[in-house]
Amino acid sequence: MTSTRTVLRGGHIVSMDPNIGELVGDLLIEGSTIAAIGPELNIADGSAEVIDASRHIVLPGFIDSHRHLFQALLRGLASDWSLFQYFVSMFGMLAPNMTPEDMYLGTTLGALDALDAGVTGVFDYSHNQSTPEHTDAAIRALRNSGIRAVFGYGGSMAEQAEILVPPFKSATLSNQAEIRRIRRQYFSSDSGLLTLGMGARGPDSSTMDVVRADWALARELGIRINIHIGMAALDLGSRPNVTRLHKEGLLGDDLIFSHCNLLTDDEFRMMADAGVSATVTPEDECAMGHGWPPIAGLLKAGIRPNIGIDTCMAVGGDPFTAMRFALAVPRGLDNQTMLEAHENPWELKLTARDVLGFATIEGARAIGQEATTGSLSPGKQADIVMIRSDHISMIPAIDPIASIVHHASRHTVDHVYVAGTAVKRDGRLLGVDMAELNRRAIAASEQILRRAGVQAGWAPKNPQTHHAS
Ligand SMILES: [Zn+2]
Repeated sequence: MTSTRTVLRGGHIVSMDPNIGELVGDLLIEGSTIAAIGPELNIADGSAEVIDASRHIVLPGFIDSHRHLFQALLRGLASDWSLFQYFVSMFGMLAPNMTPEDMYLGTTLGALDALDAGVTGVFDYSHNQSTPEHTDAAIRALRNSGIRAVFGYGGSMAEQAEILVPPFKSATLSNQAEIRRIRRQYFSSDSGLLTLGMGARGPDSSTMDVVRADWALARELGIRINIHIGMAALDLGSRPNVTRLHKEGLLGDDLIFSHCNLLTDDEFRMMADAGVSATVTPEDECAMGHGWPPIAGLLKAGIRPNIGIDTCMAVGGDPFTAMRFALAVPRGLDNQTMLEAHENPWELKLTARDVLGFATIEGARAIGQEATTGSLSPGKQADIVMIRSDHISMIPAIDPIASIVHHASRHTVDHVYVAGTAVKRDGRLLGVDMAELNRRAIAASEQILRRAGVQAGWAPKNPQTHHAS
């Protein structure tokens, strides 16, 4: 069987592969892989579909290493919520009122939203697994969406509500039987678009016995662990938990630590020494009360972070906004330090290229797939985004990397390929009945809000001050 061939002709290629760099040229896709990249590939007429890329920037698909896709079904609701309002409402009230069908719909919506914005790969930290049927539905949605995903089984939000709201009971729950079930049923292989991971609770919201058991299972199964750690003034999170993991020999390069806002330089060094990946989710961290995105501290310790959206019921799902936050916030903090010392910044330390790397190759590294995706390199999977450089927001696109980071938006994302298959073409997602999706999403979200007794604009009162007054 001959595989399909597609050539993207005459694009401005931003490969994010140091051996290839940037060039104006052609990229050949054969089947699911990138076969060749060059200034002018010699391809016989009629042997490949030709896509005119002469008005495009061609770049690797973005990788989001920490996102809760199913929450797309409730987006907008949490935009003015703090982290703790989100814990009380989402974990305690809304998530328990989501059905398996809601998980299917929310995960579908979240995955398609990501693909539309050029995110071809995601670690889906999916922590609303109230029943096995919820889990089956989320996995089915990921598979049908066409996105490259690590399904991070994250247990049940309803059970975790007890951990995250006062009086902060420490978790002793085990999700091990379910993880073993889905490993057997859906993830017998570690290749392909959909692979298995663990959205673990970690030491900030469970006991060390649970941590040890979760780590042992993940390592037995050879899957990555993604945890929330070192954020906000969590009653449990204020302890030096990275230090505890370090002392127990539990750090390793199979770990993704999300947020890390309040960790110390010593802890960043422990992570760097062990090869732990760090995900910053700058927009919701700034807005909801996690703490500043710790980008400068991570870089100082030698960790190049990756970028996630995280809570897509509070913030939007496109990587461009996230990259701009990841660039502006550390620059702002750095500039402020200098200004307070009566100095004006002359050079800016972080660049657009840096954050584009965070959102592509570093994300691929975090999910353990840097040999597969994250850059445009012959032999890697053809996970590719084509951004229109002739869009009104982009012209004249003098510097393609600056244009991607500062001027592009999902509206400029023209074509998206995952493993060589087009999922978006000419600005439109393929094979998606948008009217039907819209109708079902509106109906389902209304039902969830009704069952939870919540409406748009509502926010929970603080249980601590509320009872006292
Ligand atoms: Zn998260």
